[in-house]
Amino acid sequence: MKLSEIREVLIARDIQLTKSLGQNFLHDQNQLRRIVEAAELSKADKVLEIGPGLGPLTELLLQKSGEVLAIEKDLRLLEILRERFAPLSPSDGERVSGRTGEGKFELLHADALKFLQNEKRDWSDWKLVANLPYSVASPILVELACGARAPKKIVVTLQCEVAKRLMAQADDDDYGILTLLVQLDFAPRTFFKIPPECFFPSPDVDSACVILDRRAQPLLPENLRANFVRIVKRAFSQRRKMMLKLLKANWQLEKLQNAFAELKISPQERAEKLSLEQFVDLARILTENECNSDSRTI
Ligand code: SAH
Repeated sequence: MKLSEIREVLIARDIQLTKSLGQNFLHDQNQLRRIVEAAELSKADKVLEIGPGLGPLTELLLQKSGEVLAIEKDLRLLEILRERFAPLSPSDGERVSGRTGEGKFELLHADALKFLQNEKRDWSDWKLVANLPYSVASPILVELACGARAPKKIVVTLQCEVAKRLMAQADDDDYGILTLLVQLDFAPRTFFKIPPECFFPSPDVDSACVILDRRAQPLLPENLRANFVRIVKRAFSQRRKMMLKLLKANWQLEKLQNAFAELKISPQERAEKLSLEQFVDLARILTENECNSDSRTI
């Protein structure tokens, strides 16, 4: 979809774009192709797209994959998408599906974040490929990227600042809660910047497309994940403070000291210095100790 076509459609329908919905449409064909190539799609793939907008990415996803489920919040855009991609489907205003002559297409009218939170689907044989609405990009990723139900690949365009947090390593300025919650299950492969002028209208922030691969082997079993999340959130609750002091709010000092000694982490260390692997080990040890002390009290 070229810039001139985007303008035409919007004018013909008298649509004023809604800034709060992050409506910046990607019209640069090279960048769209790059995104789709990064997703390494085949006809065997099922793709989840969040925020299809006017469908420039949807069009390519339908050509390359076997099935696309697109979730869009703006009903005005949904009508356009339905006409473009599923003209023969029933117009029930909520959920439409059809065959486009290419892949199978399903279009859902919903707030994607609420949908993902309410409907705990198994996305493990899906790929997420989307130019995300920037205001909800991080919570959507946290919701989707955690656990055994996570998609096998994530290729998303979002603010460059969030992309850097997803790619960060210990001691980087951008390293933090989002990094660790997503990297527990996903290995960040790479990212590339997309200049503002590739979008209409141009966003105020820089954008980047991030490629994340789900880890072949989970770093933690399901039952230790809740503790990992608790540790990470508490440890980063005050970035400049020593994490041992912060963790004391939830764990006994002695247990923490033993765990830190076992992992050879200095008691003075701040969270931003610890690697993902060290957080994983800490979750294991603190959970084991919890179980032991539970069994002693029984
Ligand atoms: N993918 C399109 C549009 C990106 S703009 C393109 O690349 O051109 C972001 C899109 O997300 C808009 O269509 C906006 O209406 C939609 N959106 C915003 N918040 C949403 C939410 N919570 N759930 C689903 N879609 C949302």
